[in-house]
Amino acid sequence: MRQFTAIDMLTVWEQGLNQTRLYRALLFLMATHPELDPNAIAEWSIGQRDRRLLQLRKQLFGSTLVSTCVCPECSERIEWQNNVNDILIDEEELNDSDFDLEVDTYKVRFRLPNSLDIAAVINTDDIDIAQTDLLKRCVLKFSNKGKERPNAKLPKKVVAALSKRVEFLDPHAEIAIDLACPACTHRWDVLFDISSFLWTELNDWAERTLQMIHVLASAYGWTEQEILMLSPVRRQLYLGMLRP
Ligand SMILES: [Zn+2]
Repeated sequence: MRQFTAIDMLTVWEQGLNQTRLYRALLFLMATHPELDPNAIAEWSIGQRDRRLLQLRKQLFGSTLVSTCVCPECSERIEWQNNVNDILIDEEELNDSDFDLEVDTYKVRFRLPNSLDIAAVINTDDIDIAQTDLLKRCVLKFSNKGKERPNAKLPKKVVAALSKRVEFLDPHAEIAIDLACPACTHRWDVLFDISSFLWTELNDWAERTLQMIHVLASAYGWTEQEILMLSPVRRQLYLGMLRP
């Protein structure tokens, strides 16, 4: 992964402003892997994509994640903290792109869902239908008692088994964070979406950075590029000198 500069961060932010959440995730990774074809990045499994986004988050903003949410039982607003290193799972790099599953007399050859699959089902309102359609897109071959069958005929129990297997093979695709409410002791899981989280942080950072550029450029006459080339420590020191 290439080291991001402040200029890269502002470029990704500007390119992502009016884009979907899905495309923003890809923008981050296209910037960190300029040597790769963007289509190849879009074909990374969701877990592989999100694992790289978590690593990028560490590089850009450190490993402590802080967020807030509301307790579903008592509506108490709570702040939670987690560490990227606790979310990143040591997994063996998958050498295969295709996998096999057998359920009773059914045999399925499949691949893992990627960003293109998500894009294809994202506008489906019913989450269960979207999930099933997503999995069906990933079936390369489906047969019953040795006879090939169309993907549309995938029985529910095969869809359920496939969903479990995908979750096992691609553990970063769905990151659940275990929370406990200090007010009522209720425990529940929240799904952590690294692409939205990272985008919100980048957006906040970009707004603060543009404000800082405005102040320094007005005072010293430096260009945006010159200010961004300064280390954060120097920028802060120059800002401090402007305050009476
Ligand atoms: Zn509560």
